[in-house]
Amino acid sequence: MADNEKVNKKIVAKKVVLHFPKRMIDEPILYHLTKDYDLVFNILKASITPEAEGLMVVELKGDQKHYDQGVQYLIDRGVKIQSLSQDVTRNEERCTSCGACITICPAGAFTYEPRTLVVRFNDARCVACGLCIKACPPRAMELHF
Ligand code: SF4
Ligand code: SF4
Repeated sequence: MADNEKVNKKIVAKKVVLHFPKRMIDEPILYHLTKDYDLVFNILKASITPEAEGLMVVELKGDQKHYDQGVQYLIDRGVKIQSLSQDVTRNEERCTSCGACITICPAGAFTYEPRTLVVRFNDARCVACGLCIKACPPRAMELHF
């Protein structure tokens, strides 16, 4: 792997609740997340509901691309995912600094720099409400689970 590729890798660690339908309780779903998507998992809680549905709280860790692929795999297999933490990011290449997000964001995560005419995104202020996702004309804002 090239050095600049390593630098560009963004490692994420997120806690999610997985709801497994009855038919899937015995399937090695987490094994596939590790083997096929290189994700590390930590089971925080696991139980079977009275309806025989499997419920698991796990922390998943890996690079953003593999994480997104792993989540898509779970969705495709019929696992319902409830996020305990959502992450909003901005695709810097798409952002045109139009400013449409500034007034819509309730957390003040966007600021306008009059000198450079650039709109900055401070993700530390973001509360993941999702309002900027639709408001952004070039779809630069993205919500990750
Ligand atoms: S609305 Fe989108 S394109 Fe416009 S400044 Fe905000 S993030 Fe950038
Ligand atoms: S998701 Fe909500 S809080 Fe986060 S930047 Fe967008 S509008 Fe602001």
